Amino acid sequence: MNFPLNRAMMAPRGSVTETALKVGTLRMLEGASLDRLFGALSKRGYRLLGPAVREGAIVFDEINSAADLPAGWTDEQEGGTYRLKKRSDDALFGYAVGPHSWKKFLHPPAERLWQADRKGKTFEVTEEKPDTQKTAFIGVRSCDLHAIAIQDKVFLNGYYVDPLYKARREHAFIVAVNCGQAGGTCFCVSMGAGPKAAAGFDLALTEVCEPERHYFVVEAGTDLGAEILAELPGREVEGREKAAAEDTVASAAQQMGRYMDTTNIKELLYQNYAHPRWDTVAARCLTCANCTMVCPTCFCTTVEDVTDLQGEHAERWQKWDSCFTKDFSYIHGGSIRATSKARYRQWMTHKLATWFDQFGTSGCVGCGRCITWCPVAIDITEEVRAIRQAPQSPKSSPVGDKYGNS
Ligand code: SF4
Ligand code: SF4
Repeated sequence: MNFPLNRAMMAPRGSVTETALKVGTLRMLEGASLDRLFGALSKRGYRLLGPAVREGAIVFDEINSAADLPAGWTDEQEGGTYRLKKRSDDALFGYAVGPHSWKKFLHPPAERLWQADRKGKTFEVTEEKPDTQKTAFIGVRSCDLHAIAIQDKVFLNGYYVDPLYKARREHAFIVAVNCGQAGGTCFCVSMGAGPKAAAGFDLALTEVCEPERHYFVVEAGTDLGAEILAELPGREVEGREKAAAEDTVASAAQQMGRYMDTTNIKELLYQNYAHPRWDTVAARCLTCANCTMVCPTCFCTTVEDVTDLQGEHAERWQKWDSCFTKDFSYIHGGSIRATSKARYRQWMTHKLATWFDQFGTSGCVGCGRCITWCPVAIDITEEVRAIRQAPQSPKSSPVGDKYGNS
């Protein structure tokens, strides 16, 4: 997967000073020194966002120090199930992914696009100013790095560039964390999206918890990351520390709770528009849209206009929308996807097939959130498996009406 906008490319000219460390350098940082990293970022004006326990889940929120991280907590996940439980150690990043993804910051659920005020017989429009607050994302998993790269394609690399997204993206510093354990619904290995961060980060940490020691192996991914790493009280990584970090990630790769066979998946789905499995899944699907809300790559929005009662002031807001709502496909007198069958098929086929035609990549990174947070435990890996096990020939796959409703 491409990472078209790494920090080094996006950093303003002259913002990176000479550093003794190079991109790709590995250093050892004691666990107790993690706050020095946060201090170095705060000193440069970065707001810190990272994982924190809130209301029984690990979510992303503003943090001030390592004391705010979910020390000693992990998550247990299955279809329609999520719960926290204590670990046997005090790992700070010893969980998989929660209901939040970083899109809530880069592509917020609701954002004002412009406002208009009456001026006599006309009105004046004020566009929303881009947010230039420098922000550090702490604890970005490899699957979420891939998801950010996918949203970059949507918002930055097409015909239209979203200036509000662009500003937030340009001012983001990414501290990735390589996974040490996989969740019960994870399948990033199947999607080639993890569990080790390969690109798209400024710094990448691998947390190692041993009986007598807690430390991080830190990799610099950009010049700015290397500059900050050089300021931290670490040292060169020893061979056994590097091996321990590699073992940590390898064990996460072995623990994937789910698997998806992606061989010719685009063709498989294009040839099975009328597969009976769509009826089976539609009978369970509540069209609640949870899967699209938690998905780190889903990007669809609607716009809403609001006015005051006097007609003096109006605002246009962009809000997350979902292909699971009937209104989403309402065009000139009716919904194109009127049934839950058509809507589920649209979502899954977009993720795993048409996304390739549109953006040159899969729309799924295997984070497993849509499985965990589906109230009826519908599982995208299981749906693919069911179609793959009994595929229909293209000739036997009429698609109902011309829009695929049937
Ligand atoms: S698949 Fe699950 S989460 Fe998605 S709309 Fe259907 S019921 Fe809701
Ligand atoms: S479709 Fe599901 S598993 Fe894939 S990226 Fe979205 S939420 Fe994660």
